[in-house]
Amino acid sequence: MSLLVDEADVVDLGLRWTPGFSALGPEFFTELHPSPLPDPYWVGRSAAVARELGLADSWLHSAEGLAAFTGNAAIAGTRPLASVYSGHQFGVWAGQLGDGRAILLGETAGGLEVQLKGSGLTPYSRMGDGRAVLRSSIREFLCSEAMHALGIPTTRALCVTGSDARVRREELETAAVVTRVAPTFIRFGHFEHFAANQRDDELRALADYVIDRYYPACRTTERFNGNAYAALLETVSERTAALLAQWQSVGFCHGVMNTDNMSILGLTIDFGPFQFLDGFDPRHICNHSDTAGRYAYNQQPNVAYWNLFCLAQALLPLIGDQEIAVAALESYKTVFPAEFEARMRAKLGLVDTAESDRALIEGVLKLLAQEKVDYTIFWRRLSGHVAGDNPDSVRDLFVDRAAFDNWLQSFSERRARTPEAQSADLMLKTNPKFVLRNHLGQRAIEAAQQKDFTGVSTLLALLETPFAEHPGHDDFAGFPPDWASTIEISCSS
Ligand code: AMP
Ligand code: MG
Repeated sequence: MSLLVDEADVVDLGLRWTPGFSALGPEFFTELHPSPLPDPYWVGRSAAVARELGLADSWLHSAEGLAAFTGNAAIAGTRPLASVYSGHQFGVWAGQLGDGRAILLGETAGGLEVQLKGSGLTPYSRMGDGRAVLRSSIREFLCSEAMHALGIPTTRALCVTGSDARVRREELETAAVVTRVAPTFIRFGHFEHFAANQRDDELRALADYVIDRYYPACRTTERFNGNAYAALLETVSERTAALLAQWQSVGFCHGVMNTDNMSILGLTIDFGPFQFLDGFDPRHICNHSDTAGRYAYNQQPNVAYWNLFCLAQALLPLIGDQEIAVAALESYKTVFPAEFEARMRAKLGLVDTAESDRALIEGVLKLLAQEKVDYTIFWRRLSGHVAGDNPDSVRDLFVDRAAFDNWLQSFSERRARTPEAQSADLMLKTNPKFVLRNHLGQRAIEAAQQKDFTGVSTLLALLETPFAEHPGHDDFAGFPPDWASTIEISCSS
């Protein structure tokens, strides 16, 4: 199929657009158009995100929509731009980065920014080609929607389109574009950029924009002597703590927690070499490029705090007092463990709190780690057991049955206070049956590389309702095959 709309270069999607981020002014971005890709095709589409945008579903089934979301046709009412940011990568100051392959189309009247990722060179592309490959685009698309369905704050993805245009990575691959959606794609790195360049006016304008748009309560804070910027830092810090608690509880490794990949709204952003844990190994490193394990699963909460410290440093000219800045970070240390415990209690089906809960949680995590028990399967089987299944299915996951029986005994005693049906219900709504394991993504990707996109849509449907049983799809909820552990996913995307 060829590009049908090369003569109609403007498509009106029927959305109303507002200035949004572009109102900040030219210091913050460069206006430019996406670069077209030849003969695009649909790879994945989310009707749910279309609804969220108020976009008629038909645009995900039309040649005009295909052109618009590949960057081949302009969208009426938008003024596309690439924004500038900086950041710390792997703990080292990296200087200026920016949207090197993402282009913000605009913000809808409903308050959602729409961005194309992989849409060509920008002034911030540095050594890159401005493109994204099909494989990583499918992973980002599916994982965005999987995270959302798990109740975890995240950027969303409307669709992926592909093209046979070649893109060179370790080998030759093909190009794709993901249409991403979020209230804002502003990162810690945006603040770091203006702070590092001593551009205090822009720094203040950015912070004011973020406060007015997303955190208006900071304006009237009584904390920190009414310092709105300290309140901003504290709020972002608490959002980030809550996000990390969710990642840890579901077994999600981000893989590249650089400060430019940290959302100012506490959203999961920039899906690269991420992984949902198979066996529970707290030291698991999902990013093949991360040789030192800086972003290992069990390092994530501390790395987030380190990143918040960078944000604090960037906001210091506005906060004006180092002690206040440090104080604004303090609550991370209490919010993270409290949120994590709350999440784990829900996984255990507990609706009230007890002193002994921490020991119960630590106990089960220690057992899981000792035997690298499959994390998702364990929780789902435990839920099944509380719902009335024979305990053998969960006990069979352990070699050291006696140790597990001991723990199960304390668990049973602890939950005697909660009606069984209530616990079971909570557990089955908290412990997903389906997560985007690497090998599941890989199968869908390999089929898509052969132009069979049914794997992508099947997986999307499962991940959109990950707590449902989906009879007939148990193979998507089983143990990973042996080859899964040989999948190497790096920063290359
Ligand atoms: P990431 O590791 O994907 O978060 O990207 C870090 C920085 O590199 C960001 O500024 C990206 O925009 C940029 N980047 C990554 N891949 C490419 C690419 N293929 N072309 C241009 N810029 C890229
Ligand atoms: Mg990034």
